[in-house]
Amino acid sequence: MVVTVVGIGLIGGSMAITLKESGFAKHIIGVDRSQENLDKAIRRRLIDEDLELNEGIDKADVIILATPVDTMKTLLPAILDRVNQQVVIDVGSTKVDLLETVKSHPKRGRYVSTHPMAGTEYSGPEAAIPNLFDGRCTVLCDVEDSDEDAVSKVKALCAAMNMRIVYLDAKSHDVHTAYVSHISHISSFALALTVLEKEQDEKRIFELASGGFSSTVRLAKSSPAMWVPIFEQNRDNVLDVLDEHINTLARFRSLLIKKDYESFEAMIRKANTIRKIIDK
Ligand code: NAP
Repeated sequence: MVVTVVGIGLIGGSMAITLKESGFAKHIIGVDRSQENLDKAIRRRLIDEDLELNEGIDKADVIILATPVDTMKTLLPAILDRVNQQVVIDVGSTKVDLLETVKSHPKRGRYVSTHPMAGTEYSGPEAAIPNLFDGRCTVLCDVEDSDEDAVSKVKALCAAMNMRIVYLDAKSHDVHTAYVSHISHISSFALALTVLEKEQDEKRIFELASGGFSSTVRLAKSSPAMWVPIFEQNRDNVLDVLDEHINTLARFRSLLIKKDYESFEAMIRKANTIRKIIDK
C-alpha cells in the first residue's frame, strides 16, 4: 500500500510512522507547503519521499489530509477532483463545514471523514511519535455517504494503528468535540493569559509552577494556526459550551463572595464525579 500524507506535522507524521511500522504502508509519500518540514520528515524517517500534491495523489492508494481545517476546504475538493479509485481521508477536528464542501462532489464516495481522537500540544514533524494513537478512538462520520470498499480500507487503517472506531453523524461529532476538546483548549488559553497578566514576573511562575498548574495550562502551548480555524468552523457549538462554562465560573465567584463554602464544596464534589467517566 502506498500512502500519501498531505501536511506532515504532528498528526500526519505520527500516522505516517505508525502505518509504516505496522506494515499497513509499504511506501509513504509526504506533501507539505514547507520544504523544511519535508526535509525534517525525511531525516526523521517519517516519509520515504516528498512529492508535489498531484504526483503524490497519482502514486497513492490512500491519501491522508492532515493540514489545518481551513486549508482542507480547498485541498479536499482538489484531491477528489484528481482521484480515481484511491481512498481519501481527512483527520480534521471539525466535520460539518468540510463535509458540506464536498457533499455534491462526484467522487464523494471515495472520501471517508475521519477524526483520530489523539494529539499533543506540540506541532510539526518534530512532534510526530509512533505510539500516539495506540488504544485511542477514531471517529468516522457519515459513513453511509462513502463507498463500502473505502470504509473497509479505513477500518483496516485504524486497526493497523490499534484504534477503536466510533461512528457518528458530523453534526453530533462537532457538538461532542466542542464539549470534550474545544472548550478545554479555550479554558487553558484563558488560564494561561490570566496568570501571565497577574504574575508579571515570569521567573516566579517558573519557580512555583506545580504539576497542577502545568497540567491545566498544558494545552495553552497549542498552535493558533491549528486552533483558530477550529473555533471558526465550530463557532456555534463552542459558544454554547463557553456560555455554560462562564456561568459555572460566575457561580464559583458568587459563592466565594457570599462565603458560602458549603455550596462551594458541593460544587467540587459534583465536579469530582468526572472521575467515574475518565478513570473507567
Ligand atoms: P501541525 O503539526 O501544524 O501539522 C500541519 C502540517 O500541515 C504542517 O506541516 C503545515 O505546514 C502543513 N500545512 C499547512 N497548510 C498546508 C497546505 N496548504 N498544504 C500542505 N501542507 C500544509 O498540525 P496537527 O496538530 O498535525 O494538525 C493537523 C490536523 O489534525 C488539523 O486539521 C487538526 O484539526 C487535526 N487534529 C489535531 C489534533 C491535535 O491534537 N493536534 C488531534 C486530532 C486531529 P506549516 O508548518 O508550514 O504550517
